[in-house]
Amino acid sequence: MKINLIQSEYEVIRDQSRCINCRLCEKQCSNGVNYYDSKLKVMLSDESKCVNCHRCVTVCPTNALKIVKSDHCFKSNANWSYHDITNIYRQAKTGGVLLSSMGTPKEYPVYWDKILINASQVTNPSIDPLREPMETRTFLGKKKLDIEYDENNNIITDTKPQMELSVPIMFSAMSYGSISYNAHKALATAAQELGIFYNTGEGGLHEDFYVYGENTIVQVASGRFGVHSKYLEAGKAIEIKMGQGAKPGIGGHLPGRKITEEVSKTRMIPVGSDAISPAPHHDIYSIEDLRQLVYMLKETTNYKKPIIVKIAAVHNVGAIASGIARCGADIIVIDGFRGGTGAAPLRIRDNVGIPIELALAAVDTRLREEGIRNEVSLVAGGTIRSSADVIKAIALGADAVYIATSALIALGCHLCRSCHLGKCNWGIATQIKELEERLDPEEGAANLVNLVTAWSREIKEMMGGMGINSIEALKGNRLMLRGIGLSQKELDILGIQHAGE
Ligand code: SF4
Ligand code: SF4
Repeated sequence: MKINLIQSEYEVIRDQSRCINCRLCEKQCSNGVNYYDSKLKVMLSDESKCVNCHRCVTVCPTNALKIVKSDHCFKSNANWSYHDITNIYRQAKTGGVLLSSMGTPKEYPVYWDKILINASQVTNPSIDPLREPMETRTFLGKKKLDIEYDENNNIITDTKPQMELSVPIMFSAMSYGSISYNAHKALATAAQELGIFYNTGEGGLHEDFYVYGENTIVQVASGRFGVHSKYLEAGKAIEIKMGQGAKPGIGGHLPGRKITEEVSKTRMIPVGSDAISPAPHHDIYSIEDLRQLVYMLKETTNYKKPIIVKIAAVHNVGAIASGIARCGADIIVIDGFRGGTGAAPLRIRDNVGIPIELALAAVDTRLREEGIRNEVSLVAGGTIRSSADVIKAIALGADAVYIATSALIALGCHLCRSCHLGKCNWGIATQIKELEERLDPEEGAANLVNLVTAWSREIKEMMGGMGINSIEALKGNRLMLRGIGLSQKELDILGIQHAGE
Protein backbone atom coordinates (compact mmCIF):
# COMPACT_ATOMS: atom_id res chain seq x y z
CA MET A 1 0.00 0.00 0.00
CA LYS A 2 1.31 3.42 -0.97
CA ILE A 3 1.12 5.86 1.89
CA ASN A 4 1.17 9.64 1.50
CA LEU A 5 3.10 11.07 4.44
CA ILE A 6 1.86 14.61 3.87
CA GLN A 7 -1.49 15.40 5.45
CA SER A 8 -3.71 18.32 4.44
CA GLU A 9 -2.74 21.61 5.98
CA TYR A 10 -6.27 22.99 5.69
CA GLU A 11 -9.80 21.69 6.08
CA VAL A 12 -12.75 22.81 3.99
CA ILE A 13 -15.65 23.09 6.41
CA ARG A 14 -18.97 22.91 4.58
CA ASP A 15 -22.17 23.63 6.47
CA GLN A 16 -24.38 21.01 4.82
CA SER A 17 -27.52 22.73 6.09
CA ARG A 18 -26.59 25.75 3.94
CA CYS A 19 -25.07 23.99 0.93
CA ILE A 20 -27.49 23.94 -2.04
CA ASN A 21 -25.24 21.75 -4.25
CA CYS A 22 -24.91 24.55 -6.81
CA ARG A 23 -21.35 23.26 -7.50
CA LEU A 24 -19.96 26.79 -7.84
CA CYS A 25 -17.13 25.92 -5.44
CA GLU A 26 -16.25 23.02 -7.74
CA LYS A 27 -16.21 25.19 -10.88
CA GLN A 28 -14.29 28.03 -9.26
CA CYS A 29 -11.51 25.96 -7.68
CA SER A 30 -8.66 25.51 -10.16
CA ASN A 31 -7.03 23.06 -7.77
CA GLY A 32 -9.80 20.49 -8.11
CA VAL A 33 -10.55 20.35 -4.39
CA ASN A 34 -14.35 20.34 -4.41
CA TYR A 35 -16.52 17.73 -6.16
CA TYR A 36 -20.06 16.44 -6.19
CA ASP A 37 -20.63 12.88 -5.00
CA SER A 38 -23.61 11.76 -7.05
CA LYS A 39 -24.18 8.67 -4.91
CA LEU A 40 -24.27 10.55 -1.62
CA LYS A 41 -25.76 13.61 -3.36
CA VAL A 42 -23.46 15.98 -1.43
CA MET A 43 -20.48 18.18 -2.16
CA LEU A 44 -17.22 16.81 -0.80
CA SER A 45 -13.62 18.07 -0.77
CA ASP A 46 -10.18 16.59 -1.38
CA GLU A 47 -8.44 18.92 1.03
CA SER A 48 -4.93 17.72 0.25
CA LYS A 49 -5.01 20.02 -2.81
CA CYS A 50 -6.35 23.12 -1.06
CA VAL A 51 -4.00 26.13 -1.01
CA ASN A 52 -6.32 28.30 1.13
CA CYS A 53 -6.99 30.95 -1.52
CA HIS A 54 -10.57 31.66 -0.29
CA ARG A 55 -12.02 31.73 -3.80
CA CYS A 56 -14.71 29.16 -2.98
CA VAL A 57 -15.50 30.86 0.33
CA THR A 58 -15.95 34.20 -1.41
CA VAL A 59 -18.16 32.98 -4.26
CA CYS A 60 -20.37 30.58 -2.27
CA PRO A 61 -23.87 32.12 -2.54
CA THR A 62 -25.06 30.74 0.82
CA ASN A 63 -21.90 31.32 2.91
CA ALA A 64 -21.70 27.59 3.50
CA LEU A 65 -17.90 27.37 3.41
CA LYS A 66 -14.93 28.23 5.54
CA ILE A 67 -11.32 27.10 5.38
CA VAL A 68 -9.61 26.35 8.67
CA LYS A 69 -6.12 25.29 9.55
CA SER A 70 -6.18 21.60 10.31
CA ASP A 71 -5.62 20.88 14.01
CA HIS A 72 -4.13 17.55 13.05
CA CYS A 73 -0.67 17.85 14.58
CA PHE A 74 2.65 16.17 15.14
CA LYS A 75 3.73 15.39 18.67
CA SER A 76 4.84 18.78 19.98
CA ASN A 77 8.52 19.49 19.52
CA ALA A 78 10.22 22.85 19.96
CA ASN A 79 12.90 22.00 17.39
CA TRP A 80 10.92 20.37 14.59
CA SER A 81 7.89 22.29 13.35
CA TYR A 82 5.11 20.98 11.11
CA HIS A 83 6.78 22.69 8.14
CA ASP A 84 10.25 21.33 8.87
CA ILE A 85 8.91 17.79 8.96
CA THR A 86 6.57 17.98 5.94
CA ASN A 87 9.23 19.72 3.83
CA ILE A 88 11.57 16.79 4.50
CA TYR A 89 8.79 14.38 3.45
CA ARG A 90 8.35 16.43 0.26
CA GLN A 91 12.03 16.45 -0.62
CA ALA A 92 12.45 12.78 0.25
CA LYS A 93 9.69 12.04 -2.24
CA THR A 94 10.81 14.31 -5.09
CA GLY A 95 14.51 15.08 -4.70
CA GLY A 96 13.62 18.62 -5.78
CA VAL A 97 14.24 22.18 -4.60
CA LEU A 98 11.20 23.43 -2.67
CA LEU A 99 9.47 26.30 -4.41
CA SER A 100 7.14 28.90 -3.03
CA SER A 101 5.78 32.34 -3.88
CA MET A 102 5.25 35.75 -2.30
CA GLY A 103 7.26 36.98 0.68
CA THR A 104 8.54 34.85 3.51
CA PRO A 105 5.90 33.91 6.06
CA LYS A 106 8.59 33.40 8.74
CA GLU A 107 8.48 35.53 11.84
CA TYR A 108 11.47 37.78 11.34
CA PRO A 109 11.23 41.19 12.98
CA VAL A 110 9.27 43.72 10.97
CA TYR A 111 11.06 46.91 11.95
CA TRP A 112 8.28 49.09 10.54
CA ASP A 113 6.21 47.85 13.50
CA LYS A 114 8.96 48.79 15.95
CA ILE A 115 9.20 52.38 14.74
CA LEU A 116 6.85 55.15 15.88
CA ILE A 117 6.16 58.47 14.14
CA ASN A 118 6.32 61.86 15.81
CA ALA A 119 3.53 64.46 16.04
CA SER A 120 3.65 68.16 16.84
CA GLN A 121 2.24 69.46 20.10
CA VAL A 122 2.04 73.17 21.06
CA THR A 123 5.26 74.32 19.39
CA ASN A 124 5.96 73.76 15.71
CA PRO A 125 2.18 73.45 15.18
CA SER A 126 0.64 70.70 13.11
CA ILE A 127 -0.78 71.46 9.67
CA ASP A 128 -4.33 70.68 8.63
CA PRO A 129 -4.11 69.05 5.20
CA LEU A 130 -7.79 69.85 4.50
CA ARG A 131 -7.13 73.57 4.79
CA GLU A 132 -3.51 73.99 3.83
CA PRO A 133 -1.50 72.81 0.84
CA MET A 134 0.41 69.59 1.29
CA GLU A 135 2.98 68.58 -1.34
CA THR A 136 3.24 64.87 -2.09
CA ARG A 137 4.84 65.33 -5.51
CA THR A 138 8.17 63.57 -5.71
CA PHE A 139 11.00 63.87 -8.22
CA LEU A 140 13.33 60.99 -8.91
CA GLY A 141 16.64 60.85 -10.72
CA LYS A 142 19.62 63.13 -11.07
CA LYS A 143 19.10 66.71 -10.05
CA LYS A 144 21.18 69.62 -11.19
CA LEU A 145 23.52 70.41 -8.31
CA ASP A 146 24.72 73.75 -9.72
CA ILE A 147 22.72 76.84 -10.59
CA GLU A 148 22.75 77.48 -14.35
CA TYR A 149 22.30 80.83 -16.08
CA ASP A 150 21.01 81.71 -19.54
CA GLU A 151 22.68 84.15 -21.94
CA ASN A 152 21.03 87.10 -20.09
CA ASN A 153 22.45 85.93 -16.79
CA ASN A 154 19.04 84.85 -15.54
CA ILE A 155 18.81 81.69 -13.49
CA ILE A 156 17.37 78.82 -15.53
CA THR A 157 14.44 77.64 -13.45
CA ASP A 158 12.52 75.30 -15.75
CA THR A 159 14.75 72.28 -15.28
CA LYS A 160 12.66 69.18 -15.82
CA PRO A 161 12.99 66.29 -13.36
CA GLN A 162 13.87 62.90 -14.81
CA MET A 163 10.79 61.37 -13.21
CA GLU A 164 7.86 63.05 -11.51
CA LEU A 165 5.40 61.17 -9.29
CA SER A 166 2.19 62.58 -7.82
CA VAL A 167 2.85 60.51 -4.68
CA PRO A 168 6.06 58.73 -3.62
CA ILE A 169 4.63 55.30 -4.44
CA MET A 170 5.25 53.13 -7.53
CA PHE A 171 4.20 49.63 -8.57
CA SER A 172 7.19 47.35 -8.40
CA ALA A 173 8.40 45.00 -11.14
CA MET A 174 6.05 42.14 -11.96
CA SER A 175 6.51 40.54 -15.33
CA TYR A 176 3.85 39.70 -17.87
CA GLY A 177 4.06 35.96 -17.68
CA SER A 178 4.38 35.75 -13.94
CA ILE A 179 1.20 37.83 -13.69
CA SER A 180 -1.64 37.91 -16.18
CA TYR A 181 -2.39 40.32 -19.01
CA ASN A 182 -5.34 41.70 -17.05
CA ALA A 183 -3.24 42.24 -13.93
CA HIS A 184 -0.65 44.10 -16.01
CA LYS A 185 -3.34 46.16 -17.65
CA ALA A 186 -4.81 47.10 -14.27
CA LEU A 187 -1.37 48.22 -13.01
CA ALA A 188 -0.61 50.21 -16.17
CA THR A 189 -4.01 51.94 -16.22
CA ALA A 190 -3.83 52.80 -12.53
CA ALA A 191 -0.26 54.14 -12.84
CA GLN A 192 -1.38 56.40 -15.68
CA GLU A 193 -4.41 57.65 -13.77
CA LEU A 194 -2.41 58.27 -10.60
CA GLY A 195 0.56 59.92 -12.29
CA ILE A 196 3.00 57.31 -11.01
CA PHE A 197 4.86 54.35 -12.57
CA TYR A 198 4.47 50.64 -12.98
CA ASN A 199 7.27 48.29 -13.99
CA THR A 200 7.40 45.62 -16.70
CA GLY A 201 9.62 43.27 -14.71
CA GLU A 202 11.84 41.04 -16.75
CA GLY A 203 9.18 39.84 -19.18
CA GLY A 204 9.28 42.49 -21.90
CA LEU A 205 6.40 44.78 -22.78
CA HIS A 206 3.24 43.49 -24.45
CA GLU A 207 2.52 45.58 -27.55
CA ASP A 208 -0.85 46.67 -26.11
CA PHE A 209 0.94 48.42 -23.26
CA TYR A 210 3.23 50.70 -25.24
CA VAL A 211 0.53 53.39 -24.88
CA TYR A 212 1.30 53.56 -21.16
CA GLY A 213 5.00 54.29 -21.87
CA GLU A 214 5.07 57.62 -20.00
CA ASN A 215 4.10 55.73 -16.84
CA THR A 216 6.22 52.65 -17.48
CA ILE A 217 9.60 51.56 -16.17
CA VAL A 218 11.08 48.95 -18.49
CA GLN A 219 13.34 46.40 -16.88
CA VAL A 220 16.53 44.83 -18.18
CA ALA A 221 17.35 41.65 -16.26
CA SER A 222 20.00 38.99 -16.70
CA GLY A 223 17.87 36.94 -19.13
CA ARG A 224 17.32 40.05 -21.34
CA PHE A 225 13.88 38.67 -22.25
CA GLY A 226 11.96 41.00 -24.54
CA VAL A 227 14.72 43.63 -24.59
CA HIS A 228 15.13 45.51 -27.88
CA SER A 229 15.61 49.14 -28.86
CA LYS A 230 11.87 49.89 -29.22
CA TYR A 231 11.31 48.44 -25.74
CA LEU A 232 14.07 50.57 -24.21
CA GLU A 233 12.63 53.66 -25.89
CA ALA A 234 9.10 52.86 -24.73
CA GLY A 235 9.47 53.52 -21.00
CA LYS A 236 10.11 56.66 -19.01
CA ALA A 237 13.03 54.96 -17.25
CA ILE A 238 15.09 51.79 -17.57
CA GLU A 239 15.71 49.53 -14.58
CA ILE A 240 18.65 47.14 -14.49
CA LYS A 241 17.70 44.30 -12.19
CA MET A 242 20.79 43.04 -10.40
CA GLY A 243 18.88 41.40 -7.60
CA GLN A 244 15.51 40.86 -5.97
CA GLY A 245 14.77 40.85 -2.25
CA ALA A 246 12.89 37.54 -2.25
CA LYS A 247 15.74 35.68 -3.96
CA PRO A 248 19.08 37.47 -3.69
CA GLY A 249 21.95 35.90 -5.56
CA ILE A 250 19.91 33.77 -7.93
CA GLY A 251 18.13 34.28 -11.25
CA GLY A 252 14.49 33.78 -12.13
CA HIS A 253 12.54 30.84 -13.44
CA LEU A 254 9.19 31.16 -15.18
CA PRO A 255 7.96 27.62 -15.85
CA GLY A 256 7.19 26.64 -19.46
CA ARG A 257 3.51 26.15 -18.62
CA LYS A 258 3.22 29.92 -18.19
CA ILE A 259 4.89 30.68 -21.55
CA THR A 260 1.79 30.96 -23.70
CA GLU A 261 1.76 32.27 -27.28
CA GLU A 262 1.36 35.89 -26.16
CA VAL A 263 3.95 35.63 -23.38
CA SER A 264 6.38 33.98 -25.78
CA LYS A 265 6.00 36.84 -28.29
CA THR A 266 6.61 39.43 -25.58
CA ARG A 267 9.61 37.59 -24.09
CA MET A 268 10.95 36.55 -27.49
CA ILE A 269 11.34 32.90 -26.47
CA PRO A 270 9.59 29.73 -27.75
CA VAL A 271 6.12 28.77 -26.47
CA GLY A 272 6.29 26.33 -23.56
CA SER A 273 10.02 26.79 -22.93
CA ASP A 274 11.16 27.58 -19.38
CA ALA A 275 12.28 31.21 -19.07
CA ILE A 276 15.39 30.89 -16.92
CA SER A 277 17.29 34.08 -16.22
CA PRO A 278 20.85 33.48 -15.01
CA ALA A 279 21.98 34.42 -11.52
CA PRO A 280 24.46 37.08 -12.71
CA HIS A 281 24.35 39.25 -15.82
CA HIS A 282 26.96 37.44 -17.92
CA ASP A 283 28.56 40.76 -18.81
CA ILE A 284 28.72 42.15 -15.26
CA TYR A 285 31.37 41.01 -12.82
CA SER A 286 32.35 44.38 -11.34
CA ILE A 287 31.08 47.91 -10.74
CA GLU A 288 33.02 48.92 -13.89
CA ASP A 289 31.04 46.34 -15.89
CA LEU A 290 27.80 47.67 -14.43
CA ARG A 291 28.90 51.16 -15.45
CA GLN A 292 29.33 49.87 -19.00
CA LEU A 293 25.74 48.65 -19.07
CA VAL A 294 24.42 51.85 -17.47
CA TYR A 295 26.13 53.94 -20.14
CA MET A 296 25.25 51.53 -22.94
CA LEU A 297 21.56 51.96 -22.04
CA LYS A 298 21.96 55.74 -21.75
CA GLU A 299 23.73 55.83 -25.10
CA THR A 300 21.07 53.65 -26.74
CA THR A 301 18.35 56.02 -25.59
CA ASN A 302 20.21 59.28 -26.29
CA TYR A 303 20.70 60.08 -22.62
CA LYS A 304 16.96 60.74 -22.30
CA LYS A 305 16.10 57.97 -19.85
CA PRO A 306 17.18 57.75 -16.22
CA ILE A 307 18.80 54.45 -15.36
CA ILE A 308 17.66 52.64 -12.24
CA VAL A 309 19.72 49.86 -10.67
CA LYS A 310 17.80 47.45 -8.46
CA ILE A 311 19.60 45.34 -5.88
CA ALA A 312 18.54 42.98 -3.14
CA ALA A 313 19.16 44.02 0.46
CA VAL A 314 22.23 42.03 1.52
CA HIS A 315 24.94 42.33 4.19
CA ASN A 316 27.22 44.92 2.56
CA VAL A 317 24.45 46.83 0.82
CA GLY A 318 25.90 50.24 1.81
CA ALA A 319 29.17 49.64 -0.04
CA ILE A 320 27.37 48.16 -3.04
CA ALA A 321 25.02 51.14 -3.27
CA SER A 322 27.98 53.50 -3.04
CA GLY A 323 29.54 51.76 -6.05
CA ILE A 324 26.28 51.96 -7.98
CA ALA A 325 25.90 55.67 -7.21
CA ARG A 326 29.40 56.23 -8.59
CA CYS A 327 28.82 54.21 -11.74
CA GLY A 328 26.33 56.62 -13.25
CA ALA A 329 23.01 55.21 -12.07
CA ASP A 330 20.35 57.85 -11.47
CA ILE A 331 18.20 55.84 -9.07
CA ILE A 332 18.97 52.92 -6.77
CA VAL A 333 16.27 50.49 -5.71
CA ILE A 334 16.81 48.40 -2.59
CA ASP A 335 14.52 45.41 -2.28
CA GLY A 336 14.22 43.90 1.19
CA PHE A 337 14.16 40.18 1.87
CA ARG A 338 10.54 40.05 2.96
CA GLY A 339 9.54 41.16 -0.55
CA GLY A 340 7.29 39.06 -2.75
CA THR A 341 7.97 36.98 -5.84
CA GLY A 342 6.10 34.89 -8.37
CA ALA A 343 8.37 31.92 -7.62
CA ALA A 344 11.47 31.37 -5.52
CA PRO A 345 13.32 28.51 -3.89
CA LEU A 346 11.75 28.43 -0.44
CA ARG A 347 15.05 28.16 1.46
CA ILE A 348 16.46 31.22 -0.27
CA ARG A 349 13.29 33.24 0.17
CA ASP A 350 13.19 32.41 3.88
CA ASN A 351 16.89 32.74 4.76
CA VAL A 352 18.85 35.00 2.41
CA GLY A 353 19.12 38.79 2.63
CA ILE A 354 18.33 41.42 5.24
CA PRO A 355 15.23 43.49 6.11
CA ILE A 356 14.59 46.59 4.03
CA GLU A 357 14.45 48.91 7.04
CA LEU A 358 18.07 48.15 8.07
CA ALA A 359 19.31 48.11 4.48
CA LEU A 360 17.66 51.43 3.61
CA ALA A 361 19.03 53.18 6.70
CA ALA A 362 22.50 51.73 6.07
CA VAL A 363 22.53 52.88 2.43
CA ASP A 364 21.23 56.37 3.18
CA THR A 365 23.80 56.78 5.97
CA ARG A 366 26.66 55.53 3.80
CA LEU A 367 25.79 57.77 0.85
CA ARG A 368 25.48 60.78 3.17
CA GLU A 369 28.80 60.01 4.84
CA GLU A 370 30.44 59.83 1.42
CA GLY A 371 28.78 63.09 0.33
CA ILE A 372 27.06 61.49 -2.65
CA ARG A 373 23.47 61.13 -1.38
CA ASN A 374 22.33 63.98 -3.64
CA GLU A 375 23.62 62.25 -6.73
CA VAL A 376 21.05 59.45 -6.71
CA SER A 377 17.49 58.82 -5.65
CA LEU A 378 16.68 55.89 -3.39
CA VAL A 379 13.62 53.70 -3.76
CA ALA A 380 12.78 51.12 -1.10
CA GLY A 381 10.64 48.01 -1.56
CA GLY A 382 9.93 44.70 0.11
CA THR A 383 6.96 44.79 2.52
CA ILE A 384 5.48 48.22 2.29
CA ARG A 385 2.06 47.38 3.70
CA SER A 386 0.50 50.73 4.54
CA SER A 387 0.85 54.50 4.34
CA ALA A 388 2.61 54.39 7.73
CA ASP A 389 5.32 52.16 6.23
CA VAL A 390 5.69 54.70 3.40
CA ILE A 391 6.17 57.56 5.89
CA LYS A 392 8.73 55.53 7.86
CA ALA A 393 10.63 54.53 4.72
CA ILE A 394 10.85 58.13 3.56
CA ALA A 395 11.93 59.39 6.96
CA LEU A 396 14.60 56.65 7.00
CA GLY A 397 15.99 57.99 3.73
CA ALA A 398 13.95 56.76 0.74
CA ASP A 399 12.80 59.17 -1.96
CA ALA A 400 9.93 56.85 -2.86
CA VAL A 401 8.74 53.29 -2.33
CA TYR A 402 7.81 50.38 -4.54
CA ILE A 403 4.76 48.31 -3.70
CA ALA A 404 3.85 44.95 -5.26
CA THR A 405 2.21 42.58 -2.78
CA SER A 406 -0.03 45.39 -1.50
CA ALA A 407 -1.00 46.15 -5.10
CA LEU A 408 -1.83 42.50 -5.79
CA ILE A 409 -3.89 42.30 -2.61
CA ALA A 410 -5.84 45.31 -3.91
CA LEU A 411 -6.49 43.22 -7.04
CA GLY A 412 -7.92 40.39 -4.94
CA CYS A 413 -4.84 38.31 -4.05
CA HIS A 414 -5.41 36.30 -0.86
CA LEU A 415 -1.71 35.53 -0.29
CA CYS A 416 -2.10 31.79 -0.73
CA ARG A 417 1.55 31.81 -1.89
CA SER A 418 0.88 29.48 -4.81
CA CYS A 419 1.65 31.80 -7.74
CA HIS A 420 4.38 29.42 -8.97
CA LEU A 421 1.69 26.81 -9.71
CA GLY A 422 0.18 29.13 -12.34
CA LYS A 423 -3.41 28.38 -11.28
CA CYS A 424 -4.24 31.57 -9.37
CA ASN A 425 -7.95 31.45 -8.67
CA TRP A 426 -8.04 35.26 -8.61
CA GLY A 427 -6.82 35.68 -12.20
CA ILE A 428 -3.59 37.38 -11.12
CA ALA A 429 -0.67 34.93 -11.26
CA THR A 430 -1.91 32.79 -14.12
CA GLN A 431 -1.92 32.54 -17.89
CA ILE A 432 -4.98 30.25 -18.00
CA LYS A 433 -7.56 32.16 -20.00
CA GLU A 434 -10.65 31.27 -17.97
CA LEU A 435 -8.88 32.14 -14.71
CA GLU A 436 -7.41 35.33 -16.11
CA GLU A 437 -10.89 36.51 -17.09
CA ARG A 438 -11.88 36.52 -13.43
CA LEU A 439 -9.88 39.71 -13.01
CA ASP A 440 -11.61 42.72 -14.57
CA PRO A 441 -8.76 45.13 -15.41
CA GLU A 442 -10.99 48.19 -15.07
CA GLU A 443 -12.24 47.18 -11.65
CA GLY A 444 -8.68 46.21 -10.71
CA ALA A 445 -7.34 49.61 -11.80
CA ALA A 446 -10.08 51.37 -9.82
CA ASN A 447 -9.09 49.40 -6.71
CA LEU A 448 -5.42 50.34 -7.19
CA VAL A 449 -6.29 54.00 -7.68
CA ASN A 450 -8.40 53.89 -4.52
CA LEU A 451 -5.62 52.24 -2.55
CA VAL A 452 -2.93 54.74 -3.54
CA THR A 453 -5.37 57.66 -3.11
CA ALA A 454 -6.28 56.44 0.39
CA TRP A 455 -2.59 56.09 1.31
CA SER A 456 -1.87 59.50 -0.11
CA ARG A 457 -4.59 61.03 2.10
CA GLU A 458 -3.19 59.25 5.14
CA ILE A 459 0.35 60.37 4.27
CA LYS A 460 -0.86 63.99 4.15
CA GLU A 461 -2.56 63.60 7.52
CA MET A 462 0.51 62.08 9.14
CA MET A 463 2.83 64.68 7.63
CA GLY A 464 0.45 67.40 8.79
CA GLY A 465 0.55 65.91 12.27
CA MET A 466 4.33 66.21 12.23
CA GLY A 467 4.12 69.83 11.10
CA ILE A 468 5.65 68.91 7.77
CA ASN A 469 4.06 70.02 4.52
CA SER A 470 6.08 68.21 1.87
CA ILE A 471 7.63 64.85 1.14
CA GLU A 472 10.87 66.68 0.45
CA ALA A 473 10.98 67.88 4.08
CA LEU A 474 10.26 64.38 5.37
CA LYS A 475 13.05 62.71 3.37
CA GLY A 476 15.72 61.31 5.66
CA ASN A 477 14.19 63.20 8.59
CA ARG A 478 14.95 60.48 11.13
CA LEU A 479 14.26 62.83 14.04
CA MET A 480 10.60 62.15 13.25
CA LEU A 481 11.05 58.49 14.16
CA ARG A 482 11.54 56.64 17.46
CA GLY A 483 12.23 52.96 18.04
CA ILE A 484 10.33 50.77 20.46
CA GLY A 485 11.70 47.55 21.93
CA LEU A 486 14.88 47.65 19.84
CA SER A 487 18.46 47.01 20.92
CA GLN A 488 21.00 49.84 20.87
CA LYS A 489 22.68 48.18 17.87
CA GLU A 490 19.42 48.13 15.92
CA LEU A 491 18.72 51.76 16.84
CA ASP A 492 22.24 52.71 15.75
CA ILE A 493 21.84 51.07 12.34
CA LEU A 494 18.41 52.64 11.88
CA GLY A 495 19.89 55.96 13.03
CA ILE A 496 16.98 56.70 15.33
CA GLN A 497 16.51 57.24 19.04
CA HIS A 498 14.45 55.12 21.39
CA ALA A 499 10.93 56.21 22.27
CA GLY A 500 11.12 58.51 25.29
CA GLU A 501 14.41 60.03 24.20
S1 SF4 B 1 -7.91 25.97 -3.17
FE1 SF4 B 1 -9.10 27.84 -2.87
S2 SF4 B 1 -10.99 27.58 -4.07
FE2 SF4 B 1 -10.03 25.55 -3.82
S3 SF4 B 1 -11.01 24.68 -1.99
FE3 SF4 B 1 -9.12 25.67 -1.30
S4 SF4 B 1 -9.77 27.73 -0.71
FE4 SF4 B 1 -11.41 26.86 -1.98
S1 SF4 C 1 -1.43 36.09 -6.77
FE1 SF4 C 1 -2.93 34.40 -6.77
S2 SF4 C 1 -1.70 32.54 -6.52
FE2 SF4 C 1 -0.38 34.27 -5.95
S3 SF4 C 1 -0.63 34.47 -3.72
FE3 SF4 C 1 -2.13 35.82 -4.68
S4 SF4 C 1 -4.03 34.64 -4.81
FE4 SF4 C 1 -2.34 33.18 -4.46
